[in-house]
Amino acid sequence: MSARVLVVDDILSNVKLLEARLTAEYFEVVTAYSGAEALAKIEDAQPDIVLLDVMMPGMDGFECCRRIKANPNTAHIPVVMVTALDQSSDRVAGIEAGADDFLTKPVDEAALFSRVRSLVRLKMMTDELRMRESTGQSMGLLDPTSILTSAAGSGRILIIEDRADSIAWMNGALEPEHEVSAVDTFEEALVRVRGGDYDLIIVSLGVRGFDGLRLCSQLRSLPQGRHVPILVIVSDGDRRKLNQALEMGVNDYLTRPIDKNELVARVRTQLRKKRYADHLRHNVQLSLEMAITDQLTGLHNRRYMSRHLDNLIAQAKTTGRPLAFLILDIDFFKAVNDTYGHDVGDEVLREFAKRISANIRGIDLACRYGGEEFVVVMPDTDVAFAYTVAERLRQYIETTPVEISCAPDVLNVTVSIGIAKWDGDTDSAEALLHRADQALYSAKRTGRNKVVADAA
Ligand code: GH3
Ligand code: MG
Ligand code: MG
Repeated sequence: MSARVLVVDDILSNVKLLEARLTAEYFEVVTAYSGAEALAKIEDAQPDIVLLDVMMPGMDGFECCRRIKANPNTAHIPVVMVTALDQSSDRVAGIEAGADDFLTKPVDEAALFSRVRSLVRLKMMTDELRMRESTGQSMGLLDPTSILTSAAGSGRILIIEDRADSIAWMNGALEPEHEVSAVDTFEEALVRVRGGDYDLIIVSLGVRGFDGLRLCSQLRSLPQGRHVPILVIVSDGDRRKLNQALEMGVNDYLTRPIDKNELVARVRTQLRKKRYADHLRHNVQLSLEMAITDQLTGLHNRRYMSRHLDNLIAQAKTTGRPLAFLILDIDFFKAVNDTYGHDVGDEVLREFAKRISANIRGIDLACRYGGEEFVVVMPDTDVAFAYTVAERLRQYIETTPVEISCAPDVLNVTVSIGIAKWDGDTDSAEALLHRADQALYSAKRTGRNKVVADAA
């Protein structure tokens, strides 16, 4: 794994030592000798992780971390505090400043690489989402970075542990803020996660009845568990288990004896990160939908139709079932715009789209093909049936005036419709479209407000 690491320490030899070790493992290293220099470099360098000394003159590591996490452009970068301090109150202060992990000086090599690799891996997953999401953001969707810097809120937490006293103790620490439940068997844990909508899973790796690591790996492979953060609890000194857990992709860990404040703070951090990832995923989904949807009418757009028509033709080829294709074009629509303005034209287009949707079947695909032109693809449909549908729609539009938001309040519109059918194995989407277009042209030429089917 190649990643860029920003090493921040006021002592030259500390920086050089970490730099040498990381470079030997093929990490790319950027250095800074003060909090201020780190902040000046971080936006340009965009490191994948920051190793941050706590005790520095001027701005200390806590303050520097707080500023990294308050900046929307850097809040997603994991920060590991490198500290000579080992008081749990310092750890809590660090987590509250937004730190993702801690390493104690002198830095142990194995711990260094397992923390850095695990955090970089977790970051890469969100980076992928961040990248896809940025298009959505430029389309004016909610900016999710605000979530990373805001309060975590309460969450649904599942504890997996078979020691009653330990469960009771964690409940006591977390329950005022969160909704907590606990299970003590492997099977029950899987059932709960499959069925439940959890924000965090806490797994004690000291469970006696089963292998906690194996459970973590199974939870990760469940569709319902894949996006739920896992925090493991290991006994102090069980490095091997901890490294295996980090390797597996668990999000965070605590060592026994657990400090209550540290538990509360780490839980908050994980909940905040999950909400951030959830929002990214949601926005990505939304922008995918926007990419295939016509914004004015809510129908599918031309790009989607073209793709889907290819699939439908392929399907018709294998099943041998017929496929019909309709092009609908509003008559004299330009006059609507010219007389009542573009906004009223838009109202007519929206109403027109609604009428199409209401008059076709669920399996039919309606799209706005562009301007005042619409397309309906009808699988499993012959020309006679398509004609009936088109004619019914034409009559309905002719006889039901559209309501508009200005005088004369209602407007008579008519539509012309061209129909073509898929013509067997040698036919193409392009040719099909062309024939439907010709039929439409003939409807226009011979008086409008009519349906014409291609003769083929
Ligand atoms: P025909 O009966 O031959 O179809 O005549 P028409 O006036 O409907 O056709 P023409 O192609 O001359 O004009 C289409 C008009 O549709 C011109 C264009 O300004 C308008 N138009 C295209 N897209 C939109 C839109 O999104 N909103 C509005 N309000 N008008 C649009
Ligand atoms: Mg120092
Ligand atoms: Mg028209």
